[in-house]
Amino acid sequence: MSLQQPLTTKLAGFGASIFAEMTALAVETGSINLGQGFPDYNGPVEVLNTAQSEIASGNNQYPPGVGQSNLRAAIAEHQKRFWGLTYDPDSEVLVTMGATEALAGALLGILNDGDEVIVFEPLFDTYAGCVALAGGTLSPVTLRPQSSGRYGFDPTELRAAVTSRTRIILLNSPHNPTGMVFNAEELQQVADVAIEHDLIVISDEVYEHLVFDNLTHTPIASLPGMRERTITISSGGKSFNTTGWKIGWACAPASLLHATRMAKQLFTFAGGTPFQSAIAAGLRLPDTYFVNLAADLQSKRDILMDALMAADLQPIRPEGTYFITADIRHRWPHRDALDFCRALPSACGVVAIPGSVLYDPRHAHEGTHLVRFAFCKQIETMQSASEKLRNWK
Ligand code: PMP
Ligand code: GLN
Repeated sequence: MSLQQPLTTKLAGFGASIFAEMTALAVETGSINLGQGFPDYNGPVEVLNTAQSEIASGNNQYPPGVGQSNLRAAIAEHQKRFWGLTYDPDSEVLVTMGATEALAGALLGILNDGDEVIVFEPLFDTYAGCVALAGGTLSPVTLRPQSSGRYGFDPTELRAAVTSRTRIILLNSPHNPTGMVFNAEELQQVADVAIEHDLIVISDEVYEHLVFDNLTHTPIASLPGMRERTITISSGGKSFNTTGWKIGWACAPASLLHATRMAKQLFTFAGGTPFQSAIAAGLRLPDTYFVNLAADLQSKRDILMDALMAADLQPIRPEGTYFITADIRHRWPHRDALDFCRALPSACGVVAIPGSVLYDPRHAHEGTHLVRFAFCKQIETMQSASEKLRNWK
């Protein structure tokens, strides 16, 4: 113990978030920020107006710890309308400060020291830190580009990752950063392992509405035998272009939700009152809103795909999310993704995220050549990023 080194040993080895470094680099170099995944445009006017009128009418004090009843009802309606899943808004829905808090609550509320969590890598950056804080360890199963042109995993690797200490499978589909949307066969493989070994599944579905090419998102909780063992997590940030509001939720059977809530109440207790009403309004928008959201992003994906191909940064076509991963080896044969991302802003005026940092350190070699670019930016921003990439000598 020392005042000089107060950081818990559980977080030793974790650096500062890559998103902070790359966003700072974008500001410093005046580059287009295709690093951190946030839209540079506003959400639907119904959602924005609701937040403003809630603030003006004085709805600004603590909400109930489980979230406002209006939002819990809207979440349950949304799960039923889009995915055919029925949840009781009073006992099976919990509002959180972003999906991040729901994930942290579920992991810290469930794991005991030494428990293992199977996760698909590359992985969203908060997963590893939360598992470590909870005293657990990660068992990563690697997603790799397949000859079909999309990412996939080897089911034998998934089965081999299970031990007697495995408690949880942490799934994220549509998947950040690969853009992979787990198909029916892949979801069934995950479900089979979970059922066979009596595991809990935490399913991060924040990109549930951002799916392209007429593919469909399927919540794993909708598969036979899965609802009772799954905590489904999402948030309003991606669906309503309000990433800074941090209104998220978890839907699960009461006992799993109770474990999540026991931890979650220690972090923020509750928050974001006027934004809770606004996200409730968003969740009740007509289907056309959600269809247009995905169609608009798909056209931006296509602009960036073409530009990356023209720059000889071989992109792997994403099926959903905000992101494209690209294989930089043709363009950058001797250096790794982190070097590439530190050099790209000055060389080309565009910022990206090195995929390498999103792998378990034991498997960092799997991602040394992969870089993630975000396309959730205005069409003009995408066009000027595209021009910069095409003209990059
Ligand atoms: N999960 C994934 C896969 C993400 O990409 C993100 C980032 N938006 C989050 C969770 C966090 O969501 P929120 O901003 O609602 O906390
Ligand atoms: N989810 C966003 C991304 O992956 C933001 C992450 C963050 O800011 N921590 O880029």
